[in-house]
Amino acid sequence: MTFVEPFPDELLSSWLARARPNRNALNEPLHSAYRNSAGQWRHPDVHPTKSMIAELAANTGIAPIQIAELGLCYRYPRIYPDFVAWRYVPSNQPDRACEPALTLRIAWCSRCLAEDYAAGRAAYVRADWAMAAGGFCSQHRWPLIDRCITCGNAHWAMKRSLQGPPRMCCTHCRRGLERAHPKALELEPAAQPIWIMIAAFEAALRGALTGKVPDQFRFNDTSASQLLEETSTICILLAKARSRLGLRDGLFDRFATPALTIGHLCPDEPSSEMPLALASPSLRRCLIAICAAILDPDYGATGLSQSELVVDIWARIVGSIALQHFIQDRLVCSSMLKSKLEAARHRNEQLDRMSSLRNASNTYKSLFRGAA
Ligand SMILES: [Zn+2]
Ligand SMILES: [Zn+2]
Repeated sequence: MTFVEPFPDELLSSWLARARPNRNALNEPLHSAYRNSAGQWRHPDVHPTKSMIAELAANTGIAPIQIAELGLCYRYPRIYPDFVAWRYVPSNQPDRACEPALTLRIAWCSRCLAEDYAAGRAAYVRADWAMAAGGFCSQHRWPLIDRCITCGNAHWAMKRSLQGPPRMCCTHCRRGLERAHPKALELEPAAQPIWIMIAAFEAALRGALTGKVPDQFRFNDTSASQLLEETSTICILLAKARSRLGLRDGLFDRFATPALTIGHLCPDEPSSEMPLALASPSLRRCLIAICAAILDPDYGATGLSQSELVVDIWARIVGSIALQHFIQDRLVCSSMLKSKLEAARHRNEQLDRMSSLRNASNTYKSLFRGAA
């Protein structure tokens, strides 16, 4: 019996679903997440075990290395849970309804699916669609979505038919998911500069996940692990900041533009545990755009910067203690980011001094008016 070959950019469970004829592969995980003996979450799509690879190789005749390369940890040796798209699952703990688990949350690129359809090829899930390091397709620089554009349903299945190869379809309205989001089509001419910019930042993140040193013209004196840690720390500190919610909402509003949310009114609240990993594609794009605005000098060249620098607002939101810890952690914070954050802190302190002076002056004037 011959088995279908995996596509080089395919997710392991997508290939397994295709390799099993006469079955419609629902987007229920073929394998579920589990905790290893050290208590870490593991998922076969991310960390296929050697025994699983050997068994699949023996059953399918596909070379073990070809199967191993489908695992996300083989594509991205620096991968860690913050950069995998997770989903909440019902919790066993009595004090909470849901908890994050390494159950992959797949978003898709309608243009990739349209190319599969046009080429008469079986639709398949790209490995990058399970990654939280991006909200855009790396090939088409096109926003990923995780809901049917007709009915809004989040469940899909690979539908086989006698007329052609399997198609990825909505399980509710049964329509193919290769159709482009009308809002994305409408937004594309104006939104393309920001899509290209954010996709370039996401490419730098994916490069760092493979262990590649970031482009030193853009990320001077920043290692791959620092770029990843900086991105994940910026998101976590922002999600955890509770004292300046108004300022934080203002920052989100600045990024939650239709170009990034694709017409959704407002992104959901980021998870304080794993903001990127648990975000919807819309919220993920907003979070990554905030990181790009802080970390990537190319962001400024797009003409997207507004009067007040994002790094200044972010530094005010997270507060001085968290900022100081971040700056001092040299494993996480590069010297380039350190100087940016120190400059932001200095500008914020000046702003605070000016506002205290203004307040004192107003108090003095009102006292003087009272006395008169
Ligand atoms: Zn694509
Ligand atoms: Zn539908």
